[in-house]
Parts: sequence; C-alpha cells; structure tokens
Amino acid sequence: LRSRPGALTPTPSIPTTAPIFHRYYLPDVPNQGAVIYLELNILPQPDLLSDQLIYLVSLRLAAPSLLGDCSPGNLFKHTVYTQSSDPANGAELDLNGMIAAVVPVGLYRNDATGKCVYINQKASEILDITFEECLGHGWVDRLHPEDTERMLISWTKAFEAQSFWQDEYRFLRRDGSVIWVLAQCNFMRDEQGNHLGSIGSLTDITPQNELEQKLAQAHQQSTAMAQQDGLTGIANRRCFDQIFAQEYQRSQRESTPLGLIMVDIDHFKHYNDTHGHLQGDQTLIQVAQTLAATVQRPTDLVARYGGEEFVVLLPNTDRTGTAIVAHKLANQIAALNIQHELDELELTAPAESTQSILTVSMGLSSLIVNRDCSPEHLIEQADQALYRAKHRGRDRIEMADRN
Ligand code: GH3
Ligand code: MG
Ligand code: MG
Repeated sequence: LRSRPGALTPTPSIPTTAPIFHRYYLPDVPNQGAVIYLELNILPQPDLLSDQLIYLVSLRLAAPSLLGDCSPGNLFKHTVYTQSSDPANGAELDLNGMIAAVVPVGLYRNDATGKCVYINQKASEILDITFEECLGHGWVDRLHPEDTERMLISWTKAFEAQSFWQDEYRFLRRDGSVIWVLAQCNFMRDEQGNHLGSIGSLTDITPQNELEQKLAQAHQQSTAMAQQDGLTGIANRRCFDQIFAQEYQRSQRESTPLGLIMVDIDHFKHYNDTHGHLQGDQTLIQVAQTLAATVQRPTDLVARYGGEEFVVLLPNTDRTGTAIVAHKLANQIAALNIQHELDELELTAPAESTQSILTVSMGLSSLIVNRDCSPEHLIEQADQALYRAKHRGRDRIEMADRN
C-alpha cells in the first residue's frame, strides 16, 4: 500500500499493545481504474513462546455497501483512524466516521477558539471550500456581507449562553453564486464546564428559500391584484371597502373627521357612444390616474367604485378640507381638456353645463363618526349630494347637509 502513489496517509503506526483498526481507500487500482476499500486489522498479541509482542494482521475488502462516495476527492474524510482496546468498538467509531462522510448534511467541528478543525465532504461541497482551506480558519470571510453581522451576533449570543445555536444566512461560493445555509450547532463542555468547541451541521436550503420567495412574491402579487382595479390600476372597490372600514373605526376612536367624495363622470354613456368603448376605457384610465395623482396625503385613497364612478376617502379631513380637495380634483380633470361634445338631447337638467370638455360631478360628505351613524350613512350622504349635483346641472360639487 505504501509504495503506491496515492495510497492513503496516514498509515497507522504499529501499535504497541492496543489493537488497531484501519480502513483504506486505494484509488486507481491498476487495470481496474476503480477505488477499493480495505479494512486492516492489527491485533497485538504476546507470543507465548518468545515472550515478545507479535501482531495478528488481517486485510479484507470492505462491503461495497459501506463505500459511499469513494471518489479520490473524498479520501481525506474517509481516512478514519481509531485506536481502541476493543476492536469491535474501533469498528464502531470508524462507522461514525463513515456516516459523517456520507450523510447528505454538512458537518463541522470548531475548536474552543472557534477555529474549524473538521468538515465532512458535504460541508465542503455546500460551502465550496476545501478541507485544507477550512482548517484553522473558519469560513466567516465568505459569508454574505449583509448577513455577517447578524449571524455573528446570534452566534455570540448562543455561545455566551452555551446554548443551541441556529441561524440561516447566505454564503458566497467561489463562482460568485450565493447559497442559503441553515446552520445549527451545539457547544461542547468538559465535566468542569470548560468550553471545548462546537459541533454543527450545515444544510443547503437554497432551493426551499427560492421556492418560499417565489411563493411570497406570487402571494404579494395576487394580494395586490385582488386590491387593484384591472383597467385603471388604482384601488378597486374591495380595497376601498377594507380601508374605509379601518378608517371609519379610526375616526370613531380618535374623534377625527372622515371625508368622502363620490365622483361620477358626466354623460359618459354619450362619450362612449361618440368615441367608442376603447377610447372610453382610455379616458377612464386617464381620469382615474389624475384623481389618484391629485390627492396628497399618504392616507388619502382614490378607488374605482364601479363603472365611471370613483370614490375618494380622506381620513382626518373636515368639510372645508374635503371641499378644497374636491375643487382641486375638478380643476385637474378640466385641465385634461378631454373633448366631449354634447348634443341638445343630452342636456337633461335645467342650467346644464354646455362645456365641450369632459367634466365630473361630485358629492361630498364629512363627519366625525359617532355612535349614532354608520359607514353606510356616510356613503349615502355623499351619494345623495352627488345626485343633487347631477340634478342641478352636472359639472359641479355638492356638499351633504350637516346631519
Ligand atoms: P351621468 O352624467 O348622469 O352620470 O351620465 P352617464 O352617461 O355618465 O351615466 P350612466 O350611469 O347612465 O352611464 C354610465 C356609463 O359609463 C355607462 C357606460 O357606457 C360607461 N361605462 C361604465 N363602465 C365603463 C367602462 O369600464 N368602460 C367604458 N368605456 N365605459 C364604461
Ligand atoms: Mg354613473
Ligand atoms: Mg356618469
């Protein structure tokens, strides 16, 4: 074995009294090109005749099922050298080494100073780092910069408590790719409580994390879609209902006024009839975006209420404030200067606006919510005001009565 280049080291030293059990990998067996695996047993025995120590030596081919991955790159992990007074126990310890070598989980061991003294084959694969590179150094340098501090803090905390440590962090591989690792470790202590180091495992959780991220993204997207109006891209009715319920409660809790504006495009049926439904859609988008861009506060909400009707929710806004916002909205819609000629027949109300541009009518309400009113009441008030605006000739703003 020793004469063959590539044969394993360390070759066991000849023991004096204790038996020795050793497993060999022998790569590149001539003519076969395969790796074989040998078990060597040396049992020292006193020679009764000569009164000297003799050695009973056996060498056998190990069971192929025990081999695991025997590629030459694997050899350093598989060389397990144990010395024990009990050959059976020696074999068992060796089996532990075998398990460490073939389990699909990265294993590592750090000494009392935190330096790495062992990694198994899987850890070497996961971290894309060789055993030699790892020895004595640890692998902190290759942690993702965004995770280093967090991971060191959690590790230090667990170390100080000498408790179980677990964390997930990213690791930079040599080829520049990033993997997610789940690391877990236990700290070892002797009987006096002195810290001896740690033994831990590393699992590549990149596929799970990628899947989780995709699922979270899909969830976010579908939640956003469920809250968004498909045509105009602004909030939809469902979103309005949710936020309105929240803001209504807040208004009640904090005794702040809640303002509401119902916006309805004037003669939009006629607009569709003249310009076609597709152009109608484009105009709806334009109006929606303009309304949404005109409100200022982060808590203000513009939603499509249905068809060519929009609703504007203005938390913490009294009647005066609501009226100011409404005028701003009307001005911005007028500024779009969307051509909209009406024929005589369309002019249904007395004093009907005869503007040849697209206009809107609005109904406003604002109140400090108290126990006697309801969310429906606030909407109803704005709706009635809107009806009045239509009735009085459109292209105008009407405020609900104070009650
Ligand atoms: P008023 O001034 O009284 O509000 O008249 P109007 O024609 O706007 O009111 P009405 O409620 O009678 O008609 C609303 C019209 O809005 C009906 C339909 O042609 C149009 N509309 C509703 N939803 C859409 C939409 O998604 N796309 C397009 N292009 N038109 C829509
Ligand atoms: Mg309408
Ligand atoms: Mg309308």
